[in-house]
Amino acid sequence: MTTITAINTERPTQAPAPKKLPITTLAIGFVVLVCISLILIQVWVTWKAREVQLAETERATYNLARSIGQHAYDTIKGADTVLVGLVERLEVEGFSESHLQRFHALVVKRVEELPQLHGIFVYDQAGNWVVNSQPELKKGANNSDREYFIYHRDHTDRGVHIGPPIKSKSTGEWIITVSRRFNKSDGSFGGVVLATVKMSYFKKFYEQFEIGNSGAIFVALNQGIILLRRPFEEKTLGKDISQFPLFREYLPQARAATKTFTSAQDGVVRINSYRQLDEYPLVVSAALSRDEVLADWKSNTIIHAIGVGCLVIVLAFIGSRLIRQIALRVQAEAELVRARNSLEQLNQTLEKLAMQDGLTGLANRRQFDIALKDEFSRAMRNASSLALIMIDVDCFKQYNDIYGHAAGDECLRAISKVVAAGKHRPGDLSARYGGEEMVVLLPGTDVAGAMKVAESIRQAIYQLELKHSGNATGVVTISAGIDAFVPVRENNQPLELIQAADKALYYAKSQGRNCIRVSNGHPT
Ligand code: GH3
Ligand code: MG
Ligand code: MG
Repeated sequence: MTTITAINTERPTQAPAPKKLPITTLAIGFVVLVCISLILIQVWVTWKAREVQLAETERATYNLARSIGQHAYDTIKGADTVLVGLVERLEVEGFSESHLQRFHALVVKRVEELPQLHGIFVYDQAGNWVVNSQPELKKGANNSDREYFIYHRDHTDRGVHIGPPIKSKSTGEWIITVSRRFNKSDGSFGGVVLATVKMSYFKKFYEQFEIGNSGAIFVALNQGIILLRRPFEEKTLGKDISQFPLFREYLPQARAATKTFTSAQDGVVRINSYRQLDEYPLVVSAALSRDEVLADWKSNTIIHAIGVGCLVIVLAFIGSRLIRQIALRVQAEAELVRARNSLEQLNQTLEKLAMQDGLTGLANRRQFDIALKDEFSRAMRNASSLALIMIDVDCFKQYNDIYGHAAGDECLRAISKVVAAGKHRPGDLSARYGGEEMVVLLPGTDVAGAMKVAESIRQAIYQLELKHSGNATGVVTISAGIDAFVPVRENNQPLELIQAADKALYYAKSQGRNCIRVSNGHPT
């Protein structure tokens, strides 16, 4: 079937597609997401590295404090063991002249054996020098004014006493005193035995540790008096730090722990590991400066941050270029689609125009030829009848002559409307064949059917009552010729249908016009 509407190539209307995000928005989102992810990963990795570094430092200070505590214990224990032996001998044997010779030899030997010892001293109940490790015993010397002597004289407990650091009267060296009381046989105060430990012995040991420029190590008495400290400064020796956070806050909570706090001495934030010894009234502490510990981490972080920053800038730059390219491409594609649509529209219009007659709006001769060929073949295949009505306006030359060509055109338009309305089935086609001749192609229609259609057209035109003084009826009329047959392959041609209908038309004209005639036959 071929109709004017059949050539409409407009696309079928589709349901509107769900709204999609523009590709440039997606691309911007992707680039931003990648950049933010990179930065977040870097921040996370950096933060983790800091935590690992701090945890390692806490372990290191813990081990350091343990080692310092053990060393302090061993050092004091060595000196105290000598004192315990001396106390026992003095209490059993007393200190007669004959014993003093042996005591002297004994204490000299002990001081030689133990490298931490500076000297060993024995004082009677009045503080007078009885025996010591010096080569010659100074006559008339008295130490009753010393802190350790006063302590033992006034306290009956037999335990060891560690005193604040002092400068030796004999050598001028900084020493730590370790002392015990000994009693007379009746239990009253008999005197004091004293071992002095060289500060330098501790110093040497502490200097072996790598604690940076701001690290600190100290040993203090339980009551908060510093015995020695690294960095070594004389003014810190014997200093009372009992009001510092370590003694005031942390020690009451735990005997050993690792804490980070700002030093009250120099304002440096340190990771401190401290422990209180079980056997002696001592507290040891090892601390590393947090800034120093994190110095490498900081420089690495800066380098990584610069690296990631550069990467993000490069990514953002490349991303923005890509997005611009995508935007341009999207724009170009949109323009192409617009151009294609308008071309398609133009094409449809052109196609329509090419198939339509300009004056009447009916199908033109070209479309009729195509439709006739198609319908002829279809009729052959289906063995169905194909009918053709050929219409010619009567005495139209006179109409032009009487009313003018423009009125002639108007008359043709009015007639063509009636002809177009005469076809009813979808496959029917009405066309302008040429001049004032029109055709109606009726597939699946025999002569009788075509006759009905032609007759209704003829009557309808007559009833238009278009004035035509040059025609015998006084109004515009048409004549029509009809032919219809079932075409047979190899026997019939489309042209036969036209020729037969034309012949019938010619016959109608000769029969007085305003009538319809059927072809009187053709080869089958
Ligand atoms: P007949 O009854 O025998 O058909 O007489 P007729 O005058 O119609 O004869 P003929 O077919 O020879 O004349 C056709 C005329 O139709 C010639 C021409 O002036 C006129 N004509 C053809 N095409 C057009 C057109 O497009 N517009 C107008 N106004 N006139 C046309
Ligand atoms: Mg004619
Ligand atoms: Mg005519």
